[in-house]
Amino acid sequence: MSYTIDLSGRVALVTGASSGLGWQFARVLARAGAAVTLCGRRIERLKELRAAIEADGGDAHVVRLDVTDTDSIGAAVAHTETEVGNIDILVNNAGISVSGRLTELAPDDFDSVFATNTRGAFFVAQEVARRMIARAQGAAPGTWAGGRIVNIASVAGLRAVPQLGVYAMSKAAVVHMTRAMALEWGRFGINVNAVCPGYIDTEINHEFWSTEGGRRMLEALPRKRVGRAEDLDLVLLMLAAGQSHFVNGAVVVADDGFAL
Ligand code: NAD
Repeated sequence: MSYTIDLSGRVALVTGASSGLGWQFARVLARAGAAVTLCGRRIERLKELRAAIEADGGDAHVVRLDVTDTDSIGAAVAHTETEVGNIDILVNNAGISVSGRLTELAPDDFDSVFATNTRGAFFVAQEVARRMIARAQGAAPGTWAGGRIVNIASVAGLRAVPQLGVYAMSKAAVVHMTRAMALEWGRFGINVNAVCPGYIDTEINHEFWSTEGGRRMLEALPRKRVGRAEDLDLVLLMLAAGQSHFVNGAVVVADDGFAL
């Protein structure tokens, strides 16, 4: 007997889909049958991804979104709901990192990390959840299929990591934001969960792995290895699936044991 996760008929929106984890999350959701809106600022990259998904037989749409701009968030969500369909699954993935000692970071570094990772994720979720809640309240009994919001936090949101203090603070806020959202929106059939990845080789850190510090970090990792974006496929699918309706406010750590 096999077990399947079928997202046919569901609409997913992925932020920061132009590279790394967002790119892979979009592909996985599309392979599971969802119509996926690819959101980000690098439109040419998103078009490449759309072509790859379509070549796989999937359904993808490109929408410009800068998560630091609330007008852009409202426009991207409205456009998706008009052109693609009501959003069932949000993957709140866009993020940036800044590294350096706490004593060295400038106010702009602090503000940009929080504006993207924390404030951006909050207002994207708020915009999507308001619409989900309205649909939940307007639905005839037994017809609301529920919503899924997956916030991509980080293992750095659970433990302090050298040189990544402010990034870690922004992700710790995402972890707690997840719980607050799950508490408030659970009664509307919206499940909000967080994924805390460990180190995955993507644009955000690719250069780092060939530096002296990167090599030292690799040696210090429990299994001396960095993950690949595909290593999170099943975690994402599990949290996006209808079958996970009893999982709400969870913080799923996928870090190869780094946080232990
Ligand atoms: P990445 O740099 O490849 O992807 C981040 C994406 O977010 C990029 O496509 C970027 O353009 C987009 N983005 C940044 N600012 C944006 C904005 N204002 N509006 C819209 N899009 C914006 O890196 P990644 O590793 O794929 O990161 C994805 C998420 O995973 C991030 O939230 C990151 O913090 C988190 N994460 C990554 C790792 C890792 O080791 N790679 C570990 C833990 C958590």
